[in-house]
Amino acid sequence: MTPPPTPRLYRVAVPVPLPSLFDYLPGPARAGLEPGQRVLVRFGPRKLVGVVMASAETSDLPLERLQPLLAVLDDHEPVVTGEQLRLLRWCAHYYKHPPGEVLFNALPPALRRSEGRLPEPPSQLRLLPAGRERLDEGPGRAPAQHRVLAALADGPLAPGALREKAAATAALVRTVQENGWVASEPRGAAAPVPGQAPAPTGEQARVLEALHNAPDGFACHLLDGVTGSGKTEVYLRLAEHVLGKGRQVLLLVPEIGLTPQLLRRFRSRLGLEPVVSHSGIASGERLEAWAAALRGDAKLLIGTRSALFLPLREPGLIIMDEAHDASFKQQDGFRYSARDVAVKRALELDVPIVLGTATPSLESLNNAAQGRFRHHRLVERATGAPPPAWRVVDLCGQHIDGGLSARALEAIGDTLARREQVLVFLNRRGYAPVLLCHDCGWHADCRFCDAHLTWHRSGRRLHCHHCGERQPAPRFCPECGADALEGAGEGTEQLEQVLSRHFPETDLYRVDRDRVRRKGELEAVVEAVRGGDPCLLVGTQMLAKGHHFPRVTLVVVVNLDQALYSADFRAMERMAQVLVQVAGRAGRADHPGTVILQTHHPEHEGLRTLVREGYGVFAAQLLEERRLAGLPPFAYQATVRAEAPERARVQAFLESAREAWPGAAETVFGPFPAMMERRGGRIRWYLLLQSDNRNTLQSLLDRFVPRLRGLETARRVRWTVDLDPQEF
Ligand code: ADP
Ligand code: ZN
Ligand code: ZN
Repeated sequence: MTPPPTPRLYRVAVPVPLPSLFDYLPGPARAGLEPGQRVLVRFGPRKLVGVVMASAETSDLPLERLQPLLAVLDDHEPVVTGEQLRLLRWCAHYYKHPPGEVLFNALPPALRRSEGRLPEPPSQLRLLPAGRERLDEGPGRAPAQHRVLAALADGPLAPGALREKAAATAALVRTVQENGWVASEPRGAAAPVPGQAPAPTGEQARVLEALHNAPDGFACHLLDGVTGSGKTEVYLRLAEHVLGKGRQVLLLVPEIGLTPQLLRRFRSRLGLEPVVSHSGIASGERLEAWAAALRGDAKLLIGTRSALFLPLREPGLIIMDEAHDASFKQQDGFRYSARDVAVKRALELDVPIVLGTATPSLESLNNAAQGRFRHHRLVERATGAPPPAWRVVDLCGQHIDGGLSARALEAIGDTLARREQVLVFLNRRGYAPVLLCHDCGWHADCRFCDAHLTWHRSGRRLHCHHCGERQPAPRFCPECGADALEGAGEGTEQLEQVLSRHFPETDLYRVDRDRVRRKGELEAVVEAVRGGDPCLLVGTQMLAKGHHFPRVTLVVVVNLDQALYSADFRAMERMAQVLVQVAGRAGRADHPGTVILQTHHPEHEGLRTLVREGYGVFAAQLLEERRLAGLPPFAYQATVRAEAPERARVQAFLESAREAWPGAAETVFGPFPAMMERRGGRIRWYLLLQSDNRNTLQSLLDRFVPRLRGLETARRVRWTVDLDPQEF
């Protein structure tokens, strides 16, 4: 095969916050490079890793002003496929984000560095018959070589393990290979034996049939199934089917949904080692996952948001579990929605995608109503357990102990007496969200944020949950000196204390980010609870997702009132999603469950609908309200966010941005301060852009963003564009 001719220049993506690609002369790249190969380039005074996006014959710059590539980093093959490059370019365009940053966000960290290389596929070394003969001859004059052969006498070893066992250098191992005594071969993980699948329930069978009968190719399926209805079981069956055709399955899960339990379930059912990728694993493992996916060896890929960008050679199916989950939207830097990009990727790959959730986002419900998504419902629990019964407890005028009403405490006592388990949910860490002086009214605020400091009593510290600021908690009021400091409101630490006072004999597990930090700690709690002895579980969202606690029959929701009158139009939707998630932990097996919802607003219309008629009816009402108010999903939004230490700079920039907006006056709103105006010492504001047509908004932004870059005031703030913003 003749090497492709060398073009005049290459267009390279570089991780810099600039909207363009950059042209370089081939330099040392003798044979033609392909898109997706990494190179080293000079960029101003720095040397940066870049990714070749295309070759070209002409540049906007005169050729003599272009720099040559400094080095080719991937000399054999691209580390990013053409399909990925197209997807990432689409992302850069849709999200108005610099293409180099979009691309480097997708790469595993090891490949962002110039010394990073794709690893070789895992191999092992095997003793050949000639090597066996040489071994039998005895050490002779080459004892070291003999030692290597002896180390392989009991069976093949990975190169590293062999070097260790035989105390051999890599060169020595190479010598015995070259002598024809030892051969290298690919190492396959020993496949576990696939497990038994339960017969599908009637509902599951209907969904599976609909999916199997769907024509090949792209379709988006919204799998709207109550907690415990067997959605995971449906994923397993679909995955089995697709894997059976030799195709890859990509499963995306929320950040705290990637549990050993889930992996075990996939591994043991499908008889296949899932390749796992998320930002929490070691850089080497993430690189291995990327490489295995690129080779097509990884058949089942499981990961969080960032795994969406893994290479796929033989794609067959994308599944997103808990598709409504907020962690699928990246909230800094390149602010993409993994759900929306996953749908786009499935469309381009022409494969089906399944969005599974018990609480679909209003966006997804609207897509289903419009016929863009196919809506499949699972309304019954797969185990036949009845849905939990709701009890709303009015907190007004009640005696409350550490956040718990007398009725809640009584129900907890009764449940424990029946030797069942209780989960108490409160989405707030620490002892109390405020520390205040009973004499003068002083309270501890963060110096850097518009927020109270949370009192962590056990460590005698005050923490800011927004910027990470930590300081010792004062003994006396810093304002008036009184010994009258008290916590106001409650957090999980306080709940733990109150509950262990009321139920001193009962095992209590607190699960939040302060208590459960290390890998395996949550697992240990989950295992203990699954043991089945009566116990109390106290915790935040960490408890609410993904775990099955078959003997929990009572869930107490301490307080979700904050959301009821929030200025954020998505607050109610999110509150309902959390509530339904948590409630779903109750009574999963043969024990019926109860959910106690404590509130100061039992009369709240939305809350009543949710409790009485369920998420579906509730969401339909919210959707109708959004339609009337002209809010998403009936309008398309973008924000320009800006922050700086001084308010004046932020306002000046956003005022000039408003002037520069090419759309009609009724499509631009603000500037407004962010919900939390000051965070981490920076003042944050935004400008809201809205249109009832996605394409109109896109083309306006295409004209607008270059203008923003040219604004004098833009240099004095940090600013970004956020498409389909989820936070304000
Ligand atoms: P979801 O993902 O919707 O919460 P799961 O797939 O985890 O639901 O199923 C909930 C429980 O029901 C699990 O314990 C699972 O083993 C069980 N289950 C699911 N499908 C079936 C079935 N067809 N027959 C019996 N049990 C099932
Ligand atoms: Zn005071
Ligand atoms: Zn702070």
